[in-house]
Order: sequence, then C-alpha cells, then structure tokens
Amino acid sequence: MKLLTIFIILSVFVNQDSWAKVSREDLEMLSDAISKAYNDELVSRDEYVEINPPYGVENPWQYNILHASYVRVEVLGDDSQQMQLPYDNIKVVHMLTLFGGLGELELMSRDGLALIACHELGHGIAGPPLKETGASTEGQSDYFATADCLEKVFQHLPIEDDLTFHERAIQAIEFGLIPLLEEVEGVQTSVNSRSDEVAQELDLSPGYYPSPQCRIDTLVDGISDLGRPICWYPVASDN
Ligand SMILES: [Zn+2]
Repeated sequence: MKLLTIFIILSVFVNQDSWAKVSREDLEMLSDAISKAYNDELVSRDEYVEINPPYGVENPWQYNILHASYVRVEVLGDDSQQMQLPYDNIKVVHMLTLFGGLGELELMSRDGLALIACHELGHGIAGPPLKETGASTEGQSDYFATADCLEKVFQHLPIEDDLTFHERAIQAIEFGLIPLLEEVEGVQTSVNSRSDEVAQELDLSPGYYPSPQCRIDTLVDGISDLGRPICWYPVASDN
C-alpha cells in the first residue's frame, strides 16, 4: 500500500476545528461493536477486522473527506507484531477506513456510520457475487450490511430509543447511506420508493455500482431477509 503518498495528498484536506455530528467517541464505540460482533468468528479462521488501524492511513477521522474504503491486508511473516494485532495467527485483516467527513454530514448518525462500516466489511466477507477483483460486489455488500451485519453490530451499540430492529435499521439507512448518496451523487433516494430497473445480468466489473435507489432497495430488502432486488440481481440468479 502506498500509504505515505495517500497521507500527503490527504493532508491538504485536514479540517482542524470542525464539529462532527458523529464524534470520535462514537467511532470508537462502533469499532468496538464491529470487533465484538465479528472477531470471534473471524479469528477462528485466522482473520480479523479493524476500523482505522494504526498501520493504515494515519488517523483518517481527522480528514474532512466523504469516503470509506475496504482493504484486504495479507499478513506475512512477523507482520502481526508490527501491526500490533492481538493474535499472532492472523493471516488476513479486513481493514475498514472511515474518514471524518462522514461524521460531519448533517444527517449522519452513529447507526448510519455502522451501516457504512457494515457495507465495507461486506466487501471482505459477504461472499458471492464477487467482483472480478475477488471482493464482494457493491450490491452484495449492501445486502450483507442489513441482512447480516447490522443486527449483530446493534447488539453492541446502545441507543436510548426503544426501537425494533426493523425500525432502527430503517433509521440507519435514512441517517447513513441516504445523506451520503445525496451529498456524493446529488441524488434523492427514499426507503419508501423503489427502483424500476430490471437487471438482465450480473455486472461484476470493479467499478460498477447499482443506482442509488437500487442500493436503498437492497438495504431495505436485506432488513426483512427478502431476496436481493432485481434492479441489480437478475431473476435467473439463485436468490
Ligand atoms: Zn463498496
């Protein structure tokens, strides 16, 4: 990874005295929740997940950048000591990077950020359909985020409101991916609308994203364990 180069480019965007909607403490609670939700299972197969670890981009939360990413890190030789991993048998780290701009979006919530982290983790562990690069596709990562990840992570992320999982997950979409898509793509989406697209075949090319509304449809369907929506997942595929 050319992290030094990335760091130099990013330093232009440092936002010194911003007030985030989602604080660094929220991010730390989320990191802890993702770890509690997944690391027992992952460590048993010599894998591990971390958000913003010290061997990644240096302190991504300080940058006012609207971006999240997933990197699969192969751990070789005695890397695990240098990386300060808590176990020395780890072969693969699923590294999630969340930048501080996400926390500053007007409508972002801690649960919304959890949804985004779940999507990124999905690239590493959500399984097929896979992109040509070997990562789970965007659609599959979205589906995993609500069909599998969010419920596990919510168990370790307290909230004051007394909500069902369904209500809480819908809120996470409304205060997570919807404001992010609006800011980045300039597109309005809603949990109450549906895309009318019909995919004829799976698009596995690395740069392919389902349309913004199709992504929201996928998240909503995942909450209720419905199949993947036809806007990106053709009906002939085994749903
Ligand atoms: Zn993605």
